[in-house]
Amino acid sequence: MQGRVQLATVIAVTNQKGGVGKTTTAVNLAACLAELGQRVLLIDLDPQGNATTGCGVVKREAMPTVYQVLIGSSTLLGTCLRTDFAFDLLPANRELAGAEVDLIELVRREYRLREALAAVRGSYDFILLDCPPALNLLTVNGLVAADRVMIPMQCEYYALEGLTDLVATLKKVRAHLNPVLEIEGLLRTMFDPRSTLTQQVSRDLEGHFGGKVYRTIIPRNVRLAEAPSHGKPAIAFDRASKGAQAYLALAHETLARQRGQAATAKEPPVTAGGRR
Ligand code: ATP
Ligand code: MG
Repeated sequence: MQGRVQLATVIAVTNQKGGVGKTTTAVNLAACLAELGQRVLLIDLDPQGNATTGCGVVKREAMPTVYQVLIGSSTLLGTCLRTDFAFDLLPANRELAGAEVDLIELVRREYRLREALAAVRGSYDFILLDCPPALNLLTVNGLVAADRVMIPMQCEYYALEGLTDLVATLKKVRAHLNPVLEIEGLLRTMFDPRSTLTQQVSRDLEGHFGGKVYRTIIPRNVRLAEAPSHGKPAIAFDRASKGAQAYLALAHETLARQRGQAATAKEPPVTAGGRR
C-alpha cells in the first residue's frame, strides 16, 4: 500500500500514574488504526491483562503470553493472536508479574522485548505497547523497545507532578539504553470541559509542551468505560459514541504526525462531536 512505512513504528503508551487511560488508549487506538487500514500489533505489558480482556481474549486461557516471549521460551510470532478487530494481540495475564524477578537473571534483561520485536517489525505499521502503572523492568523493556512514547494524562493538579518524574525517566532511558526514544505526544484523557481546573491544567500543558500535546482530546465518556466489559474496542461497541469518535480522530492525528503533516497545527483542539 502506498505511503506505508517499511518498519513498524513502536509506540509505548505509558504513564506510571494508575488509571489515567493507558489501556483504553492502547486498545482503542489499535482498533482505530486497524480500521484505517494499518497493520497493528498490540502488546499487553501489564500483568493486570486489561488490554487482553478489552480485546475479547480470556486472559486465564491465553497461553503462551508475552511472559514466555520475554523469558525466551516462545517466539513472538508463535504467541500473537488475531483479535476480532483486524489487529493482532500479544496477550498478558498474572503470570507476567513473575517476569520482574525472572528477568533479573537473564542477560540483556532490558532489551528482551526489543530483540523479540526485531523479527516482526517488517510485518506491521504500528506496534503499540500497553505499559503497567509503574517504572519497573517491564516498563523499561517497553521504553527500550519503543521509538516513541505516548503519555495519556488526566488534566488534574497531580498529573503535572507525575509528568516531571516521567520526563526525567525518559531522559535516563535515552541516555543509557535507547538513544532514539522520543515523546510522540501527550494525550488529554477523561476530559471534562466543565471543570475550571481541567481547563487550567490543559492550558498549562499546552504552554509547557506546545506541539507535543495532541490536538485530539479524549472526553470522559461512559461508552469507553463500558466497552471492555463486552470485550470490544469502542468503535466495535458503539461507533457513534463520542469516545469512539475521539479515538478515531486520534488515529487520524497519529497518522498525520507519522506522515509529517503538521499543517493543521495552528487550529484549535478538537473533541468528538465538533470543535470546542
Ligand atoms: P492502569 O494504570 O491500572 O493500567 P490505565 O491507565 O490503563 O490504568 P484505564 O484502565 O484505561 O487506565 O482506565 C481507567 C478506568 O477509567 C477504566 O475503568 C476505564 O474504563 C475508564 N476510562 C478510561 N478512559 C475513559 C474515558 N475517556 N471516559 C470514561 N471512562 C474512562
Ligand atoms: Mg492499564
